[in-house]
Amino acid sequence: MQTYTPPLRDMKFVLTELHDFSRLTTLAAFSEVDADLAETVLEEGGKFTSEVLLPLNVSGDREGCRLENGVVTTPKGFREAYRQFCEGGWSALSAPPEFGGQGLPETIGMMLSEMICATNLSFGLYPGLTGGAMVALRKYGSEELKAQYLPKMISGEWSGSMCLTEAHCGTDLGLLRTKAVPQEDGTYRVSGAKIFISAGEHDLSENIIHLVLARLADAPAGIKGISLFLVPKYLPREDGTPGERNGVLCTGIEHKMGIKASATCQLAFDDAKGWLVGAPHKGMQAMFAMMNAERLGVGIQGLGIAEVSYQSAVAYAKERLQGRSLAGAKYPALPADPIVVHPDVRRMLMTMRVNAEGCRALGAWVAMTLDVAEHGADERQRRDAEDFVALMTPVVKALFTDLGFESANLAVQTYGGHGYIADHEVEQLVRDSRIAMIYEGTNGIQALDLVGRKLPPHMGRNLRGLFHPIAAFIAENKENPLLGEMVAGLERAFGALQLATGQVAERGMKDPEEAGAAATDYLRLIGLVSLAYLWARTVAVAVPKSFAAGPDQAFYSGKIASARFFYDRVLPESASLYLKIKAGKASMMALADDAF
Ligand SMILES: Cc1cc2nc3c(=O)[nH]c(=O)nc-3n(C[C@H](O)[C@H](O)[C@H](O)COP(=O)(O)OP(=O)(O)OC[C@H]3O[C@@H](n4cnc5c(N)ncnc54)[C@H](O)[C@@H]3O)c2cc1C
Repeated sequence: MQTYTPPLRDMKFVLTELHDFSRLTTLAAFSEVDADLAETVLEEGGKFTSEVLLPLNVSGDREGCRLENGVVTTPKGFREAYRQFCEGGWSALSAPPEFGGQGLPETIGMMLSEMICATNLSFGLYPGLTGGAMVALRKYGSEELKAQYLPKMISGEWSGSMCLTEAHCGTDLGLLRTKAVPQEDGTYRVSGAKIFISAGEHDLSENIIHLVLARLADAPAGIKGISLFLVPKYLPREDGTPGERNGVLCTGIEHKMGIKASATCQLAFDDAKGWLVGAPHKGMQAMFAMMNAERLGVGIQGLGIAEVSYQSAVAYAKERLQGRSLAGAKYPALPADPIVVHPDVRRMLMTMRVNAEGCRALGAWVAMTLDVAEHGADERQRRDAEDFVALMTPVVKALFTDLGFESANLAVQTYGGHGYIADHEVEQLVRDSRIAMIYEGTNGIQALDLVGRKLPPHMGRNLRGLFHPIAAFIAENKENPLLGEMVAGLERAFGALQLATGQVAERGMKDPEEAGAAATDYLRLIGLVSLAYLWARTVAVAVPKSFAAGPDQAFYSGKIASARFFYDRVLPESASLYLKIKAGKASMMALADDAF
C-alpha cells in the first residue's frame, strides 16, 4: 500500500536547523514571512496532499485519462481535487503578489511540490506546467499579456502547457517545423503538430494557455530561428472570460507506462491565434526560463517519489514476516521475524531513506538560493545566487530523478513478488517515476548541459558557490571530534571531484567527445559530493542535539545514522566515478557505428 505521512519534521530541520531560513526573511520581498508561517503552510499542505491527493493516486492510475471528440476527461475525483487546490490558494502560494499571488518563498513552494509529487505525481503535472509557463510569461511577456493572463493562471482558473516537442524533434529543437505567420493586428497565426504535451488538454481549468515554440518565415535555420508564442485554447473576451475557441485541437492522448492520470496530448495547431512572447527568434531564451523552472520541478518529483517509496517500504518491512534474524530470533512470539531485521532489507530501506533526506536537504539549499537570485538585496548577491542555481539545476533534475527511480525500484524489491503485482500499489511508483529521467531534457542531456554550458563560463565561476563552502567546511572541521572520519571522507570525495573537474575541462576543450563521455558520471559525482557536504553539516548540527533527552532525540539520532550510512555505503561510489571519468572516451567510442 502507498503509505505517506508528510515529512514535516525533516522539512523543519532542513529549513531552520541545517539551512538558515531567517536569511530569506531578511529580504524585503519576504519581510512578512517567518519560520512559523512556513511551518503552518507546510502543515496545511501536508493535510491537503495526504488527505485529498493520495486517495486519488491509485484510482487515477487505474482509470487514466479519456479522449472523446477532442475533449479529455481526467479520472474521477481530479476535478474536485483541482477545485480544492485552487480554492485553498495552493496555486498562488509562491506567485508574485502584484498579480494576485501570495508571494511566499519558492523554497516553501518546492516543499509543497514535494508533497504533491509524493502523493500524486500525475496531479502535480497540471499545476506544475502552469507554474513553468508563468515563469516565462513573467520574464518575457509584454505588460498586456502579463496583466491579461497571469492573474487567471495564478488563481488556477486557467492552466498552462509547454509545447516544444514534435514527432521528428525531441532533444534537437532546431529541427522544429511549427510555423507562425505575422498578422496586421500584431498577432500571429500558428500552425503545426505537437506531440507529448503534458496538460495540453483536460477538464480541470476553464482555459489552457499554451506556450508554443514555432518558426517565423524569415527565421534563420536551426535553434537560433525559434520564437515563443502564447496560444490560448479559448480567446479571452474583453471582460476576461474565455470566448471564441482558438484553432487548437487535441487529436490524441498517449498510452504510456505511468503517470496515466496526466494527459499527454497530441495537439494540432491550425491557424491558431497567438501572441509573441519575448523577441522574434529569441524563443529559446524565453523557453529556457520556463524549462529551468520545470527542471527543478522535475527533480522534486524524484524527491517526492523517493519519500513515498521509503515510507511504503518501511510499513511493509515491519509487518511482513519471513525468516529469522541472522543474530537469532528477534520476535520469538511470532512465527517469523518481520523482514525489517534482515541486513539486506535494511540496505534497501537505508538507501531509500538517505535518498529522500539528502535530496530534501540539497533541494532546499538550491530553492533558497533561487529565492535570493530573485529577491536578493544587491546585484552581486543575486548574481552569485544565479550562478549557483545555474550549476545545480541539471544536478537536481538528473540526480534526484535517478535516485527517485532507484528508490521506487527498491520499494518493489522490499515487497518482493507482492511489489511486482498491482495489489500493493508500489509498482505504480516505478512506472510513474520513470518518465522524470526523460522529460524536460533526458538526464544524459542534463549532464551535457552541466559540463558543456555550466562549467566553462567565466573560468568556472559557477562552481564557486559549491566549492568554496565545501572547502571552507573541510578546513574548519578537520579537527572537529563530532564528525570523526567524516571530514576525511568528504575531503577525499571533494578531491576526486576537483581532479575530475580539471580533467573534464582540459580534455573537453581539446575534444568535446571527451566531455560528453564523462558527463553522466561527472554529474553523479558532483551530486554525491554536494550530498556528502550536507550530510556532514547535518551531523555537526544533530550530534549536540542528540544528547538532550526529549521527543526529538530519536529524530537527531536517526539523522546521524542516515549520515553514517551515506558515508559508508553511498559516498564510496565517488571513487569509482572518478576512475570512470579518468578512463576517458576510448573504449566507449572504439566500435564503428556499423559494428553495433
Ligand atoms: C509523458 C511525457 C510527457 C512529456 N511532456 C512534454 C511536454 O509537456 N512538452 C513538451 O514539449 N515535451 C514533452 N515531452 C517530451 C520530452 O521532453 C521528450 O521526450 C524528451 O525531451 C526526449 O526527446 P525524444 O523523446 O524525442 O528523444 P530523443 O531526442 O530522440 O533522444 C533519444 C535518446 O538519444 C539521446 N540524445 C539525443 N540527442 C542527444 C545528444 N545531442 N547528445 C547525447 N544524447 C542525445 C537522448 O538522451 C535519449 O537517450 C514529454 C514526453 C513524455 C513521454
